[in-house]
Amino acid sequence: MKNKINRRRFLKTTASGMLGAGVMGLSPDLIHGEQKKQDSKKKILKIKEYRVLGRTGFKVSDIGIGTSRQFPVEVIKMLLDAGVNYIDTAERYGRGQSETNVGKAIKGRDRKSLFITSKLNLRGSETKEEIIERTNKCLERLQTPYIDCMMIHSVSMKTIKMESFHQAAKQLKGEGKLRFIGVSNHGPRFGRKGDSMEKVLLAAATDGRFDVMLIVYNFLKKTEGEAVIEACKKKNIGVTIMKSNPVGRYYSLLEKVEQMKKEGKKVDDRTKRYFDRLKETAVQAEVFVKKHDLKDPSEISNAALRFVLNNPKVDVLNLAFGSFEDVEKFLSISGSRLESKDKKKLVMYEQGPGNFYCRHACGICETNCPHDVPVNTIMRYNHYFDGHGSEKYAMDKYASLDTVKAELCQDCSGHCESACPFNIPIKGLLTMAHQQLSLV
Ligand code: SF4
Ligand code: SF4
Repeated sequence: MKNKINRRRFLKTTASGMLGAGVMGLSPDLIHGEQKKQDSKKKILKIKEYRVLGRTGFKVSDIGIGTSRQFPVEVIKMLLDAGVNYIDTAERYGRGQSETNVGKAIKGRDRKSLFITSKLNLRGSETKEEIIERTNKCLERLQTPYIDCMMIHSVSMKTIKMESFHQAAKQLKGEGKLRFIGVSNHGPRFGRKGDSMEKVLLAAATDGRFDVMLIVYNFLKKTEGEAVIEACKKKNIGVTIMKSNPVGRYYSLLEKVEQMKKEGKKVDDRTKRYFDRLKETAVQAEVFVKKHDLKDPSEISNAALRFVLNNPKVDVLNLAFGSFEDVEKFLSISGSRLESKDKKKLVMYEQGPGNFYCRHACGICETNCPHDVPVNTIMRYNHYFDGHGSEKYAMDKYASLDTVKAELCQDCSGHCESACPFNIPIKGLLTMAHQQLSLV
């Protein structure tokens, strides 16, 4: 497993190394070669479809830039050149660095051709003046006179009704600094128990004041996502999507289970039972992977993204582009639709490795945990590690959790599992998540 991780890290390092070639003293031929490669990609890759973002009336590219993990200015510029015109950022992404990078990338471009959304994390007690001040700081970092949409980040039942936010938005709109407001939610926030995404976003749609939403939606989380999308369409609210790809690298799970045993992790009777359950599901996943020759899960991932684009009620699919390879991979799906071979693969995936997917923005089982372990949040960080290959980012997020972590799961009898409607082997997955996210 270590070798696989090291290889991935090597590949990533190589990709980002290319970006910094100019300062690393590489030969001009090499730099020129890479530049030519990028230029040729620029010519080929273009956005193929634009959709109307609800009541904003703005025609947005079907693929948007989701900058939660900040990525290089050059990558953003390349995407803008390809016709991407929707950028999703937030005050807290990279502690402002994401907005700063977006600001650098949009400099000198026709501002009216872009739709920029930022977000503020609000507890509910902030004053109108504080919200205005923080928005002004976002504007400074973005180097732009206005923000198209300001969202309440991870909105809650309480912050939907936050009058100071609505008053601040009114004033900012009057000053020409803001055009629309919106909300995002991916379940209980930052490791704390709370209401489900559907409950909160349906309430936000009913409230009627929000113009755009950022929603979790994918082929394994259809029902909840589609309920919110439907509510948005009735109010002509723009629909933007995150967490569209639930495909994980579950084919290595069996290997991980065996490794845990080999490393002498505690294997008492109770632990053995969950290992057995985990192993059983892992074996099913292996059979699936072999049958469909899915050593590289990108085929399923692309089908997963096409599933989202296939829904005409979705306006923008936000994706995190970490490298030039991602630019090529993701832009190629612009304008595409779900094909019948995709449908088959998604159904099979759902019945196999889908059994391991902790639905983003759920949290139902958390009320059963006597230790207040933030199951959904830890599973999400683990998905960043396993599904996205963002090991360092996932480990940093886990380290910065200010709640209890999953170290308690190994010795617990797994009260949470009976509450999960998807029958996820939570205890085993969280025990493994704790090991890989904290390198214990
Ligand atoms: S395994 Fe136990 S400690 Fe871990 S989340 Fe479930 S109930 Fe909580
Ligand atoms: S483990 Fe099951 S109940 Fe718990 S958050 Fe994930 S999907 Fe929801």
